[in-house]
Amino acid sequence: MKQHITPNNGYYGQFGGAFLPEILIPTVEELKRVFYQVKNDPQFWNEYLKIMQNYSGRPTPLTYAENLTKHFNTCKIYIKREDLNHTGAHKANNVLGQGLLVKRMGKTRVIAETGAGQHGVATATMAAKFGLECTIYMGEIDVERQRPNVFWMRQLGAEVVPVTEGSRTLKDAINEALRDWVTNMDTTHYVLGTACGPHPFPEMVTYFQSLIGQEAKKQILEQTDQLPDKIFACVGGGSNALGIFHDFLPETVELIGVEAEGYGKATGKHAVRLSTDDASLGVAQGYKTFFLQNSDGQMRETHSVAAGLDYVGVSPLLSYLGENKRVRFESATDEQVTAALQLIIAKEGLIPALESTHAFARAFVEIPKMKKDQIVLINQSGRGDKDIFTIADALESEEWKIFIQQKAEEYDVKKIY
Ligand SMILES: *Cc1c(COP(=O)(O)O)cnc(C)c1O
Repeated sequence: MKQHITPNNGYYGQFGGAFLPEILIPTVEELKRVFYQVKNDPQFWNEYLKIMQNYSGRPTPLTYAENLTKHFNTCKIYIKREDLNHTGAHKANNVLGQGLLVKRMGKTRVIAETGAGQHGVATATMAAKFGLECTIYMGEIDVERQRPNVFWMRQLGAEVVPVTEGSRTLKDAINEALRDWVTNMDTTHYVLGTACGPHPFPEMVTYFQSLIGQEAKKQILEQTDQLPDKIFACVGGGSNALGIFHDFLPETVELIGVEAEGYGKATGKHAVRLSTDDASLGVAQGYKTFFLQNSDGQMRETHSVAAGLDYVGVSPLLSYLGENKRVRFESATDEQVTAALQLIIAKEGLIPALESTHAFARAFVEIPKMKKDQIVLINQSGRGDKDIFTIADALESEEWKIFIQQKAEEYDVKKIY
């Protein structure tokens, strides 16, 4: 595969780098060595493609959204279906790729951080498949909020460690995972969940996720004989966006990354880092990028209806592509996302994850101004089944409330006897 952005000494312009405790340097050097070795080995890419085909269900389809296209009556709308990957999102592309690297390095244990639990479930799945020991760090508050994912991780054989430090959420889980890595680096690989963190993680995660754009480019040319005019993807850490954008970087295609605006920029309760002046350059969690921080460099609380977009940092590659105006960054509010989701479900019979719905919500703002002969491509990074609690709440579904109440009562009855 051809790489279109190469880091210079681990940096993309002023962003990136590897800010690590001295003790981790040999491990990260080993990771770099093995990664650059496999990157130049066509055999490895074929091995990767094989597992993605036979285990994860790739290539994922490119769906023509005929009904949404009729609804807006402007450009043609196409959807890349990452929701059809095993475990329900693009995260499988990254964890299975890193799993193959772990095998090459001869390590026997993986650790990961997780916020909403999606990356934890994907990592635990990979560990079960590859016969690796697995420990997942998760903030205590997230463990409480994400019971179904915790249940599946444990069924998959992973140890889930609730982190009780600090704000007891994702950033504290990352710190604990780093602490574990320092202690156990001889046997253990840290499976980072997105295109963030110290070099070579942003490059490596983008490398695996670029499969999305490679497939999409081939598929859109087969189906329409032209390249898309705009591509929309949601941005948490940035891995699904970089994955679909990468192969289109040299083309004249507009690339739009959509961040989570939560309750709105003015409220301060959002996770917007690149489409605002609110974030500032800083170093944290091993790398340099734009962070949502206060003037003392303390990380701020973020908010989004989509847990997977609720993050203080962002990929150094995206900061770089934003600074160079190759990617345009926009945002969508919780309210816009809820409305967009209802339209997609009703028109196309698809249930995108709340994360992915941010890409749709912004596309729906721009599509009415587009022309008949133009094409829009939207990355549906994951499926929305996991969001049933949040969505039913947001839509204030009466039936759902009654169902939950009945469940609660059943358990109370069991407790009495
Ligand atoms: C985790 C997640 C995201 C956010 O992560 P990126 O690294 O920005 O892609 C987006 N969509 C879904 C469905 C996710 O699970």
